[in-house]
Amino acid sequence: MMTGSVKERDDNRESVTSLIQAVKDENALRKEGIQRASMLLIMVLMIIAITVILAIDFSTSPPTLNPMILLMGLALALIVYVTFRQRTQYLCGACRKRIPYDAAVCPYCGHRFLKT
Ligand SMILES: [Zn+2]
Repeated sequence: MMTGSVKERDDNRESVTSLIQAVKDENALRKEGIQRASMLLIMVLMIIAITVILAIDFSTSPPTLNPMILLMGLALALIVYVTFRQRTQYLCGACRKRIPYDAAVCPYCGHRFLKT
């Protein structure tokens, strides 16, 4: 009986510790997701900015935009966005499904996330 209750207490302590660890992991993952999302946004905006600069044809008066370069740059921006977008998503700690990093509640299981 005695040993049983001690073991139970240890189990409880263990589950509390792992819960705290899970919350910490969750917060770290969310911060990482937010960082990646803002980096991705900056990257895409930079590609678009560089594309527009490169696409300006100064040989004509007034300067015109080269539609081929513009199209290629926008395609590249789209490819970068689609490729890296899933890395900005966050795994729900409860159901392990991919959800947007800024979601307050998991759309799949209703798990509530702590505000960071
Ligand atoms: Zn979930």
